Amino acid sequence: MKTIYVDNAATTAMSDTAIKAMTPYLKEVYGNPSSLHTVGQVAKEALDKARADIAKCLNCEAREIYFTSGGSEADNQAIRSAAANGARKGKKHIVSTAFEHHAVLHTLKKLEKEGYEVTYLPVHSDGLITAEEVAAAIRPDTALVTVMYANNEVGTVLPVREIGAVCKKAGVTFHTDAVQAVGHIPVDVQADNVDMLSISAHKFHGAKGVGALYCRRGIPLNTFIEGGAQERNKRAGTENIAGVASMAAALKEACDNMSANANKLIKLRDELIDGLLKIPHSKLNGDRKNRLPANVNMCFEGIEGEGLLLLLDARGICASSGSACTSGSLDPSHVLLALGLPHEVAHGSLRLSLSESNTEQDVKTILKAVPEVVAYLRNMSPVWEELEKGERPHLI
Ligand SMILES: *Cc1c(COP(=O)(O)O)cnc(C)c1O
Repeated sequence: MKTIYVDNAATTAMSDTAIKAMTPYLKEVYGNPSSLHTVGQVAKEALDKARADIAKCLNCEAREIYFTSGGSEADNQAIRSAAANGARKGKKHIVSTAFEHHAVLHTLKKLEKEGYEVTYLPVHSDGLITAEEVAAAIRPDTALVTVMYANNEVGTVLPVREIGAVCKKAGVTFHTDAVQAVGHIPVDVQADNVDMLSISAHKFHGAKGVGALYCRRGIPLNTFIEGGAQERNKRAGTENIAGVASMAAALKEACDNMSANANKLIKLRDELIDGLLKIPHSKLNGDRKNRLPANVNMCFEGIEGEGLLLLLDARGICASSGSACTSGSLDPSHVLLALGLPHEVAHGSLRLSLSESNTEQDVKTILKAVPEVVAYLRNMSPVWEELEKGERPHLI
């Protein structure tokens, strides 16, 4: 049985280009970039080149890129640094949204315990917020606005450029978790008015355990890992050169092929959405238009997402019921709840996140499997029986 992998928002397979780019640094170019000898200096050159290549893709300067262990670390460092910068001026208020990734939300929760105040903007049922809402939430003591570029569960693309303009006008630092956006849709830190931005290589076919933080020149960054002087003194530890090389190569490849990939993905995505909406009492989560090219997120009333996932897995289809971080717990996703879905509906969710290697045949297979599995589960569901008998009202 062929495996159909449609969980690319959780992680992607490495591309051949990325593997090829990293291999020399696992073998012959094994030097420590801090060493003065030739073997070390060759490694340093590779690091510098990767930094320049990544900066070019994001439209910033190489020295504004700091390598991290991934998106989570970049989010933590950005938010904590901006919070500390604000506190030095007596500003301890932060604006964010209710449906950020946990790397952001859990950092904010910690900061609240440390005396910061956070406004979590409610998200509309379409999975969006507006720049006007951000503007209205900004106060004289606001230190930071952190709003994700694109949501990892429902795939909505937020009006980051407008939010950035609002922050610029108000003189407030703006961070965006762009982990789901970079490499998939155009991101330009200048045009988007972004001060700090997080990326992660494994979300665009690079290696796991490596990411980067863009931090605009002039904004002080705090260090969280003390030690050597790596990353301009902001992140100690011998650099993950192989990982960084894979990230630079994967990002360049993704950016070079972005519109061709997006066109292909949008076609597959829309076929899936249209096909799955034919299932009675189903619903697309997240705005249809302002949406990542690869994201499908549906709810089916009367079923449990976990059952759906296991039965799809048995048919070789690897999907998700939301974020990989929340599966394993029986709580419905905080993202779907933030969109206002009732608990019982949020439980029956399915996220299909595609990649360029998915095919029309994959879509056909999924469009045959999902309706059959949903019907099977509904057949066994006491809740569905009550819904069908009219003993409880349909919610979708
Ligand atoms: C995956 C993801 C992260 C975490 O990135 P890691 O590199 O896995 O730490 C953060 N934010 C979003 C939106 C993500 O999708």
